[in-house]
Amino acid sequence: AGTGTFFVGGNWKCNGTKESITKLVSDLNSAKLESDVDVVVAPPFVYIDQVKSSLTDRIEIAAQNSWIGKGGAFTGEISVEQLKDIGCKWVILGHSERRHVIGEDNQFIGKKAAYALSQGLGVIACIGELLEEREAGKTFDVCYQQLKAFADAVPSWDNIVIAYEPVWAIGTGVVATPVQAQEVHVAVRDWLKNNVSAEVASKTRIIYGGSVNGGNCAELAKQEDIDGFLVGGASLKGPEFATIVNSVT
Ligand code: PEP
Repeated sequence: AGTGTFFVGGNWKCNGTKESITKLVSDLNSAKLESDVDVVVAPPFVYIDQVKSSLTDRIEIAAQNSWIGKGGAFTGEISVEQLKDIGCKWVILGHSERRHVIGEDNQFIGKKAAYALSQGLGVIACIGELLEEREAGKTFDVCYQQLKAFADAVPSWDNIVIAYEPVWAIGTGVVATPVQAQEVHVAVRDWLKNNVSAEVASKTRIIYGGSVNGGNCAELAKQEDIDGFLVGGASLKGPEFATIVNSVT
């Protein structure tokens, strides 16, 4: 970790019940968290209000998605305005499940990011290659294209955290090695330097996601360009999530 405040996000995905989330919030409220870490959790939309009213203010709340523009006649969507209204500070955009299961493309995701930023939400901007793309030697190209779509759409990187999440590592138990992750994080930082600015490259946090857990976080956190984590499965267990938060070096 070398850039800015260590950042750890918990992506709860489409998991939980009122009961299980009550327990998770209570475990998070009693966890000891290092003070110099930004900690964020992303509950499913329907539980955000419950979490906001019961979770310690030490932990901020992210949504897992947001609509591309102002709310209105968009059945089934949730607007950025509504997310702000219920206390969200962040939104995860471009997650691999939305890209590859739901079919969101680079341009659509870029526009969502621009709108969320324009309304004052922070964006956790996810990028990452499929296994077949890695095997074909296209990892950097894919990440650069995804980054370019964000860069083309957003006016400023001040409120963006980049999450590098290789798709083959998400929910699979196959974590990237510290060397594999660091290699891509450096490439992302270089891309920012060459295509946005040296200042943005040196200030933007690049976090890693994909099968991070209490056992593998410490080695990853030691890497110079890994500035935190986006955690799926292990974020559903309060004590383990706290271990990951506290892996800050
Ligand atoms: C994620 O969904 O962002 C993620 C990294 O999931 P997991 O930690 O379960 O691989």
